[in-house]
Amino acid sequence: MPDFAEPTAPAPPRPDPAPELREQVRAGAENRPGIYRFIGPRGELLYIGKSVRVRSRLLSYFRARKGKPLEILRVARQLEWEYVPTEFEALLREFRLIRAFRPRFNVHHRRDRRFAWIKLTREIAPRLLATRRPIADGARYFGPFPATRALPRTVRDLAHLLGVRDCPARTPMHYSDQLDLLAPPRTPRCARAELGSCPAPCAALVSRKAYLQGVEEAEAFLRGETDEPVQRARRRIERASSDRAFEVAALWRDRMEGIERLRETLVDHRRYLDSLRFLYRVPTGPDLPRQDSDDAPVARAHRVYLIIGGRVRLTFDEAPSLPGNPPPSLDELRRSQIAGALDRAENEVPLPLDEEAREELFLVARWFRRRPEELARGCPPAAYLG
Ligand code: SF4
Repeated sequence: MPDFAEPTAPAPPRPDPAPELREQVRAGAENRPGIYRFIGPRGELLYIGKSVRVRSRLLSYFRARKGKPLEILRVARQLEWEYVPTEFEALLREFRLIRAFRPRFNVHHRRDRRFAWIKLTREIAPRLLATRRPIADGARYFGPFPATRALPRTVRDLAHLLGVRDCPARTPMHYSDQLDLLAPPRTPRCARAELGSCPAPCAALVSRKAYLQGVEEAEAFLRGETDEPVQRARRRIERASSDRAFEVAALWRDRMEGIERLRETLVDHRRYLDSLRFLYRVPTGPDLPRQDSDDAPVARAHRVYLIIGGRVRLTFDEAPSLPGNPPPSLDELRRSQIAGALDRAENEVPLPLDEEAREELFLVARWFRRRPEELARGCPPAAYLG
């Protein structure tokens, strides 16, 4: 006789947590800036979001009939939220939490953005390269640039134009002014020497001083201080055209355009980040009366972010003041904190930022680029300190 198991009653369906979560939002959430977290059955973070109006944003999830909100609600068992003083701070906090916890539904922040840098290595004969991974190795990095396929090619053209090597780091280097009487004659290790695009420090065909001249020119160009490489490419086009070598001229025209674009990107980017140097004062508390309202103006407290080079260096709260009035006077401690942050930023060595700092910089830059009206809230440090 087969041993039949006792029939068991089917498990009762798990109650849908969505109505309970909705009631929780209705009962407790306010329309203030903040971030919220959906949490799964094992306590795992499913999704982190931000909103300038947390209550409205959360209630919109329960009206969704398709898409990610519905997918999240199908799995979520808990919901939490917290308020922050401003939407800008909600953006930063959301970003930092997503970076730290990498929730399953936050795909947009999980995908690492594609940026690249130009690297001038710190070696006896420095090299010029494009890289996606800046590291703290003492090299000088310029950028970031969108990591296009054209970038490595343009960097190579620049290296060839300025006579800077781009061979592997392990290639032995010997300058012509290096005392090495017993050394056998050396031959260049690649065809660039023969093509005239590298002075061949691998074969003692150039002095250290002469080689470093090309490196310095590359650095000055990448700092936006000179456009000599563009002029040099232009001279090559002219020479090739007058020799009726039209294919060569066309080749150099393409290279010159690539190098010009590179410079424009660098200069634009640097100029934009340099312009992000101010105290960003954001009013906090309930919504302001409309501009045309007859209500008496209301004194507002402000959340202040000291932004230098596109990065938030200091955050503090400011006592209430009437709209249009100067900020309230600062105490000595706050004054010295601001001065100290400015001083540190002024003297900081431009190390390559780690990935998180880079992403945050792009986030801040994008915030102001997309909301130029927010720049009007910025107060130059000198004016703020009075
Ligand atoms: S010629 Fe020598 S130093 Fe120049 S790129 Fe080639 S291997 Fe490097």
